[in-house]
Amino acid sequence: MIEAVPFSDLGAITREVRGEVDRAWQCLLETSGFIGGEAVEAFERSWAEYCGAAYAVGVANGTDAIQLTLTALGIGPGDEVIVPANTFVASAEAIVLAGATPRFADVDPRTLLLTAEALEAAITGRTAAVLVVDLYGQMPDVDALGRAAAKAGLAFIEDAAQAHGATWHGLPAGSVGQAGCFSFYPSKNLGAFGDAGAVVTSDAQLAARLKSLRDHGRAEGSHHRHELAGTNSRLDALQAMTLTAKLPRLDAWTRARRAVAAQYRSAFAGSPVLLVEEAELAYAVYHLAVIRVPDRYRVRQYLSSMGIQTGIHYPTPCHHHPPFRGLATTPLPVVDRAADEVLSLPMFPHMSDIQVERVCEAVLQSCGAMRSRLA
Ligand SMILES: *Cc1c(COP(=O)(O)O)cnc(C)c1O
Repeated sequence: MIEAVPFSDLGAITREVRGEVDRAWQCLLETSGFIGGEAVEAFERSWAEYCGAAYAVGVANGTDAIQLTLTALGIGPGDEVIVPANTFVASAEAIVLAGATPRFADVDPRTLLLTAEALEAAITGRTAAVLVVDLYGQMPDVDALGRAAAKAGLAFIEDAAQAHGATWHGLPAGSVGQAGCFSFYPSKNLGAFGDAGAVVTSDAQLAARLKSLRDHGRAEGSHHRHELAGTNSRLDALQAMTLTAKLPRLDAWTRARRAVAAQYRSAFAGSPVLLVEEAELAYAVYHLAVIRVPDRYRVRQYLSSMGIQTGIHYPTPCHHHPPFRGLATTPLPVVDRAADEVLSLPMFPHMSDIQVERVCEAVLQSCGAMRSRLA
């Protein structure tokens, strides 16, 4: 009998913190402070510190984190926001929700991340901001992107929803622009027991606006004065307590993910299988382990027949989805090609060496099989 290899194993992560969260939840049931309060503030303090920012503002999810950041920065109708087309659709969606227009840009063929050249090519007279995406757990060259954004007078916002703990040249994900937006959806590298998100920033005024926007536009310290047209995007205490219990373990989980990635990389060296590259200045946290293979569906089917689960991130680039068609100002050949070739392999902190070896073998076998079939 072959042992199946799941795509990820949330259960193993939950088991590590379950006792701690259980105890915190029992205390909370005594106080009924279900939303906001000390549990949320404590997590916000530690998350800001972890990201090297002055403030963290907890919100309901990662999409809201981006939308509210744009709104708080005054970016909305009439403004364009440049975003790489190779991203989860929420990056683009949040721009539309803020009332602005996404403009899609191409990516680097080695990392599949936004480049300064692609950013510059997508700038128009209406561009107000760039939403940089740390896709798959790796930050792009934020030095070059930051310079290009500053030169064009653009706000620089980071979608760090897949990159908790990643760095570029030592700078933590979320800390490099005006704001960094995080999702704590359960399967992210740091995940809650439900939906959750946060914005980190070192701009006191931006943090204050975000705190108001997430809570019906309330003025600070007031229940009945509403200064902004806000929304309800509050973080609840259960999620904050879960994140507080998980945070001290995040770096160890990241090291485990990186060890899996290193095994993949050395197994595929010299083969036709390309693992997305990690740039020299990057410390990637491998939210996903993405390879590129020419005959993706056949490889995927073979792995599936061997009991190995895979994913595709993402089969359709944003600019080909109906709501976003026509929003690319230039052709996006790298994104279009990658969408046909990318395949995400199993990647989770508790993955065993044997599981990793099984995946490596099966991937290489499937490529060997492909070659002999072509010959
Ligand atoms: C998960 C994710 C989001 C959205 O986060 P939610 O919490 O699901 O709203 C945004 N951007 C990227 C890149 C993501 O992976």
